[in-house]
Amino acid sequence: MKRFALAGNPNCGKTTLFNNLTGSTAHVGNWPGVTVDKREGLYKKLEEQIAIVDLPGIYSLSPYTPEEVISRNYILDEKPDCVINIVDATNLERNLYLTTQLLEIDVPVIVALNMIDEVKKAGDKIDAAKLEHKIGVPVVAISALKGDGVEELMKRAYECSKNPRKGTTVLEGGALMHLIRDCKIALEGAGVENALFHAVKLVELDEIEIAQHPQAAETVQKFKETFDDETFGSDFEAIVADSRYKYISQNYSKALVRGGKSGKDKLTASDKADRILTHRIWGIPIFLVILFAVFHLTFSEDFLYLGAMGALGKDWVSLQGMWGEGIFGSAEGIASPGVILFNLLDSITSSISGAVSDAMTSGGVAQWATGFVVDGILGGLFSVMSFLPQILLLFLFFSLLEDSGYMARVAFILDRIFRRFGLSGRAFMPMIMGFGCSVPAMVNTRTLADENERVATIRVIPFFSCGAKLPILTAVAGGIAQLTGTGNADLITYSMYLLGIVVAICAVLLMRSTTMRGDVPPFIMELPSYRMPQAHSLAMLLWDKLKHFIKKAFTIILASTIVIWFVSHFSFDWKFLTDDRINESILAGVGMLVQPLLTPLGFGSQLGEWGWVFVVAAVTGLIAKENVIATFGTLAACISSGFVADEALGGVDSVAQMISATGIGVPALIAFIAFNMLTIPCFAAVATAKAEMPGKRKFNFTLLFWIATSYVVSSMIYLIGEWWWTAFIWAALWATVIAVVVLYNKGKLNFGGIKKLFEKKRKE
Ligand code: GDP
Ligand code: MG
Repeated sequence: MKRFALAGNPNCGKTTLFNNLTGSTAHVGNWPGVTVDKREGLYKKLEEQIAIVDLPGIYSLSPYTPEEVISRNYILDEKPDCVINIVDATNLERNLYLTTQLLEIDVPVIVALNMIDEVKKAGDKIDAAKLEHKIGVPVVAISALKGDGVEELMKRAYECSKNPRKGTTVLEGGALMHLIRDCKIALEGAGVENALFHAVKLVELDEIEIAQHPQAAETVQKFKETFDDETFGSDFEAIVADSRYKYISQNYSKALVRGGKSGKDKLTASDKADRILTHRIWGIPIFLVILFAVFHLTFSEDFLYLGAMGALGKDWVSLQGMWGEGIFGSAEGIASPGVILFNLLDSITSSISGAVSDAMTSGGVAQWATGFVVDGILGGLFSVMSFLPQILLLFLFFSLLEDSGYMARVAFILDRIFRRFGLSGRAFMPMIMGFGCSVPAMVNTRTLADENERVATIRVIPFFSCGAKLPILTAVAGGIAQLTGTGNADLITYSMYLLGIVVAICAVLLMRSTTMRGDVPPFIMELPSYRMPQAHSLAMLLWDKLKHFIKKAFTIILASTIVIWFVSHFSFDWKFLTDDRINESILAGVGMLVQPLLTPLGFGSQLGEWGWVFVVAAVTGLIAKENVIATFGTLAACISSGFVADEALGGVDSVAQMISATGIGVPALIAFIAFNMLTIPCFAAVATAKAEMPGKRKFNFTLLFWIATSYVVSSMIYLIGEWWWTAFIWAALWATVIAVVVLYNKGKLNFGGIKKLFEKKRKE
């Protein structure tokens, strides 16, 4: 089967074209660097099936980042039958820079001029035939989004793939061409494939190339020394890059004719928006407000704070009761859209479990079996499932922000701040992806060039609370809101998300100034243009999330709740225990053993006989974070003595049940959320971190780092929340840590022995 590879700059529309060609639903994002691993699919509209490979987005074939290495090696080693070079036509010159390099490889190349719809909309014109004549390979104008020209592209690509092609270079006639030609002959003599490409890279003094062809590299080095700087300059890489750009602007750029009219207007509209949204001072507050609006829409039980402002009046109080069980709000306020959806689903699930329970009881089924089905299975599943609407809504909002191009602006703003902490704005993209799921986010760190920056980023990604942690945040926040009698669950979830971000920033700062030092590479991301998010791709994304969630609910979460139910209903000598004796169960026994460790965090020994449930819940979260609440759901029903299993409890009610059984206070509850958010993530994320880390030692340290961070931050929250004056102790502690780091970095402290120990280990 033939294989065609899609190559192009980040954000040029590769994945959109890939999805169009293969009918798959890979994630499309409006910012650079969304695809990192290559991905394959089938195109079936030609006489034979074609495998399509979506390569990571790259600006050049020089190995500055791991993704450039992936793409380069794929094209050189796997030798696709045709490379479809996607070019963002709204950004012609920059995109053609990569084209000039692809042309040097001995592989059929076809150029797809993408986003032609936008070019037309701006009133500009691109003469594809002229460009084709100049470049010397087929050029087809397409719109990957609308599907225009895609079939023609594939037909011509297919024709291309039938004939081999010899590499050509735009450096012909340039200052270094003699040298390139000599290198090429030498490499050909040595039987090297793609001699032209390698020769050019050698002359650019590309690291990989020098390692692969040391002898030829020596010749280049000698040549460099024999010629004086005045003729050639000394930076060969810069000379080559310069001649590429010159060639592009002299030969290719003429194919673009600016219509000028609306083009300019559009530019200023977007510029105007950017002047506000990326403002030096206002950029961050605006981001925080937008983020809060998202949380308010998703989680608030007092929408627009109408209740708190007293704007609802008596009519509302009597009205809201009429619409079913307070689905649209409570006496305190109107529910936000997310909460309405939550209430709807919650009322459905509780009537289902109620009906099941009734049927089983009246059918004479044994009480333990009813308990197993209603508490064990339904209780666990439904407590998590009721949060599905809010999870999806939050994802929808995040995707809207991302697809419109706003998130890329946030990365740009944060770059200014991050840079001082030793991170580039580039690191922000994988972090934001972490709000969805840590696994792809960790893979995405491959876009970072500096290895230490990468390690530091992977470590803090789980602090960006993922979708699976959302039930924990929401359920516990709901429990707190009930306990304190406020409807501000949105404020609590929002603050917890911010806490995650702040802890991440502090942790990076600490790492980058101690064990993970390194340069901050310049951030060359160009801001993508603002785009209307596409309903279709949003729907696809949500559908994907939904499928993933349902699958997880009926596999991992279901299995865990069943196990939890069993170990909480059997004692160590395998006797079955009824609900009011689960304190004698295996689970309780193990939980109580670990419980004292968590006393400084507020959910340990001080909670008395039911405290172990918190420990157990946190541990089940290591399998899947949703389990934390599923475990509450399973156990809550058994906890209050005299509680009859007449229906499964929702997530918030389960937490409320635990609160009243243990008397746990607000600081400890917040510490509990923080602990689950910051501690070791689910095993899938752990496995990914292990795979992406450069060494076992760094990985082991990462596990330790997660445990330590969650422990320290949670106990800080609990202790300060409970006894405010402990803040002074913490402040003194942190001041000491910072002083030690600063003094050490200035060379004023000498740890002699410790330092030697570290160095010895590093050498190993
Ligand atoms: P990749 O990074 O190269 O994989 O780019 P994506 O496929 O993720 O696309 C980046 C952005 O460009 C998304 O917002 C797409 O909706 C948008 N896009 C892609 N192709 C077109 C097109 O032909 N026309 C327009 N107007 N937008 C496009
Ligand atoms: Mg992509």
